[in-house]
Amino acid sequence: MGEARRHDRFDEMTPPSIVLSNAGIVRRFFIVEIIVNFEESNRLRTLFKNIKELLQVRACNVTKVAGKDMAILPTIEEAYMLIENDHILDYGKMQDLPEEVPADAVVDLTGKIVLPTWCDSHTHIVYAGNREQEFVDRINGLSYEQIAQRGGGILNSAKKLGDTPEEELYRESAQRLEEVIRLGTGAIEIKSGYGLTTDGELKMLRAVKRMKEHFHIPIKATFLAAHAVPSAFKNNKDGYIDLVMNEMLPEVAKENLADYIDVFCEKGYFSVEDTDRILSEGEKYGLRPKVHVNQFNALGGVQISVKHQALSVDHLEEMRDEDIHSLKQSDTMPVALPSCSLFLGIPYTPARKIIDSGLPLALATDYNPGSTPSGNMNLVVSLACMKMRLTPEEAINAATINGAYAMGSSDRVGSITAGKKANFIITKPIPSYGFLPYAFGSNNIETVWIDGKPTEV
Ligand SMILES: [Zn+2]
Repeated sequence: MGEARRHDRFDEMTPPSIVLSNAGIVRRFFIVEIIVNFEESNRLRTLFKNIKELLQVRACNVTKVAGKDMAILPTIEEAYMLIENDHILDYGKMQDLPEEVPADAVVDLTGKIVLPTWCDSHTHIVYAGNREQEFVDRINGLSYEQIAQRGGGILNSAKKLGDTPEEELYRESAQRLEEVIRLGTGAIEIKSGYGLTTDGELKMLRAVKRMKEHFHIPIKATFLAAHAVPSAFKNNKDGYIDLVMNEMLPEVAKENLADYIDVFCEKGYFSVEDTDRILSEGEKYGLRPKVHVNQFNALGGVQISVKHQALSVDHLEEMRDEDIHSLKQSDTMPVALPSCSLFLGIPYTPARKIIDSGLPLALATDYNPGSTPSGNMNLVVSLACMKMRLTPEEAINAATINGAYAMGSSDRVGSITAGKKANFIITKPIPSYGFLPYAFGSNNIETVWIDGKPTEV
């Protein structure tokens, strides 16, 4: 969704009205600055009025919510919101809206709800081709592990990626990103991990870098070469780990291609000790961990991640009491990926247990070709309610403010807060925000605004 895909819908809106002299505006909009600069500047202000309900309105110092606080979703009913260029300027109750506001365009949202865009803190959307055959294999009774043993799984994606030129890889991946933005995602984390060679990993991360340059949403890149042991190192896992630490990491750091480092800490992949070594090496390059742990087995990956002050631990389908205990001593965000559980038919993350223990929780898609070929955060929010017994308030908190925390973007996105990016969803007319997870499978989104501009839906 580069600039070319955007279009200006202001012609469909109420004609612009610019008023600078209203006394009521003086304090609210720092009128001194406006009088001097407004007409000469490139500022574009859009006022949204008669919003049925404005969700997730937070002060700027709130970066995440945990435990009982997750059940509270701060909202303003019958609200207005004013944006300027790419950021949120002001909001409040309609009854407090001054009679004349200096706006270039006014949008009437009667009956519609506004909420911040989803923050998807865990994806693998840079990949080549698809794995529909494995989907059919699983329908016919093969397990994830059996498919992996037959050369499927991550190694299958690695082979396809190796055969795909960088330009084609970018084109396929950018299409997926455009799709998820249309579904309401306004910030995303993207991992490498299908290269499994120095060239392949760099190719993936360069594609992410190009996305950062072309798309107007926060994008974070995570180096995940320790996603699987490639065939060339089948009986030499330590040799591969050496390659990751001594060749790939320095190259990634030199080109400044990653924000975070990740390891698939799981039986048959990388042990707790391997994870410890790789995360320690990543630290030398300033890469904070976000780690795949406890998907099929609870091995101690949570503890090693907490030891390395991981920003998040993701999956957590298998959780022991000691894992909860370790997380309570940390600033690490637990992240659940319910559409992966749905697709693979594996247990769901025990979200109730996590939240009821006082911890925060974030929700993400895990969009990838093998275990979650979907980047639909609306479905994730529904699944969290249906399968993990989150309330709509908890699920929306988990998919916005806590998602932003889990990708280190709380300062820019995740809530309706003055100064944050004007990335938000306008729903179709719906009875309440609970309708979003309730009416699963329906598209309740009318428009997604990114950087203060409407995108095509
Ligand atoms: Zn993943």
